[in-house]
Amino acid sequence: MERSTRQRTAIQSVLESAGRPLSPQEILEAAQADVPALGMATVYRQLKAMQEEELLVVVDLPGENARYELAGLHHHHHFQCHDCGRAFDIPGCPGNLAKLAPAGFSVDSHELTLYGQCADCGKKPAGRRKAAVKAVSKAVAHRH
Ligand SMILES: [Zn+2]
Ligand SMILES: [Zn+2]
Repeated sequence: MERSTRQRTAIQSVLESAGRPLSPQEILEAAQADVPALGMATVYRQLKAMQEEELLVVVDLPGENARYELAGLHHHHHFQCHDCGRAFDIPGCPGNLAKLAPAGFSVDSHELTLYGQCADCGKKPAGRRKAAVKAVSKAVAHRH
């Protein structure tokens, strides 16, 4: 297999098996299991190319570095753990968010991120028990 194809296949399978949006650093660490010589510059280059080919989409969490997930997933939302920083997929959607907009405004998309502690971090004895769940809704990006 051509080298760049192998790199790309490794990145793609990392994202598939993770089932959650990954940062370039997380992608690098996981993909090195398949392609030990993989470097960060290559990961960025492949991510950019895969994004241009619409194989990947960027997941922007407020104040965070971009994460990536496979394109074509069903409309869904994200959860970010304030302890480990990992982002997770949340299946489903509350749906009727457009009715929150003021009269005369039209909503064509939304994003929703829940914040709190993931199950792994909740099991750690030192884990902070903050139940803060903050929903951020932005009238940009992904469409239903
Ligand atoms: Zn966590
Ligand atoms: Zn939604």
